[in-house]
Amino acid sequence: MSAFGFRRMKKRLVILGATGSIGESTLRVVTAHPDRFEVVGLAAGRDAEGLQALARKFNVSKLALAAPNDAGIPFGEQALCDLAAMPEADLVVMAIAGMAGYAPTLAAIEAGHDVALATKEVLVMAGTEVMRRRAAAGVRILPLDSEHSALFQCLQSTASVPACVRVGDEPKAEERIAEVILTASGGPFFKRETIDWSRITVAEALNHPRWEMGPKVTIDSATMMNKGLEMIEALHLFALDPAQLRVWVHPQSIVHSFVHFKDGALLAQLAQPDMALPIQYALTWPDRALHAPVPSMTLAQMQNLEFSEPDLSRFPCLKLVFDALPLGAWTHPILTLANEVAVKAFLAGRITADRIAAVIEQGLARAETDFAAIVRHAEEDVARFA
Ligand code: MG
Repeated sequence: MSAFGFRRMKKRLVILGATGSIGESTLRVVTAHPDRFEVVGLAAGRDAEGLQALARKFNVSKLALAAPNDAGIPFGEQALCDLAAMPEADLVVMAIAGMAGYAPTLAAIEAGHDVALATKEVLVMAGTEVMRRRAAAGVRILPLDSEHSALFQCLQSTASVPACVRVGDEPKAEERIAEVILTASGGPFFKRETIDWSRITVAEALNHPRWEMGPKVTIDSATMMNKGLEMIEALHLFALDPAQLRVWVHPQSIVHSFVHFKDGALLAQLAQPDMALPIQYALTWPDRALHAPVPSMTLAQMQNLEFSEPDLSRFPCLKLVFDALPLGAWTHPILTLANEVAVKAFLAGRITADRIAAVIEQGLARAETDFAAIVRHAEEDVARFA
């Protein structure tokens, strides 16, 4: 109790994917705001030691791992779901890579928790279902991805409400949007005169000029498939039509995205390329904190910002997404699963980078809706291309 007779409540966080880069940035935000946040649950994939170190540092007793472990930590999908649904939580930060994040996200929603969502596969694969359930449960999905956070922040400029946080019949933000423009760094190859995808090495593709990320998303960034997946994520978060989506390449990664409103205004969000800021906005929303563990923007950084539309013929994965989206939501799981199988094979040295688009294209031609069948056929395509 303070001298004024009340204690400001801290927001209680559960963080799934705590030992990854999003988890690390989230914990940086928590450390910067000890008065605002408290961590009540932590989960990771298989790094038991790393998880236990974080548990000691942040004084957390409730833990879970995806993988079996010798440390006595509850593990497996049910353990992750139980953690995501724990009644003490106010907000669940979901940063488990890939579809492993799906069941725990639904568990958090069903438990009535708001979810700050970094795992784009959850929306890309099952966005219709996730958004339906979150509306029924009356909880919010707060975007963590830097681009979607930028769009979300720009959309706070109207009295209308973005779809991902709408829990009543408030005016719809999407009706005020002419188009959203996702910015993309362009990855390591954008400035090359010619890109011969059949000769790109794994090491070159992993050498991203701006962002420190895991290997899967770094390869997706090099092929620009990451932007394609982010387009799908934006469709679901903000209830957009595919015709409202644009991508501009912006190598400096200072402008994190734009909303072009029907009244003609173009709003952008500018910040250092550091995930702590979009994470912090999701954690403090609808407030904006008084400080952040990220340096502020300077005028010098705003000189010479470049923007251009990508030449889709140079980025076949992104072109496949632009072509597929108007066909409907059935394309979304194919785009993500076929890509996931192909990127894994590329990272393992089994196929060349040009085959990533080929595997996705084959998947789209089959038009399957069963997830397991999509994966099985993509693996067969990889074996043929190997
Ligand atoms: Mg992003």
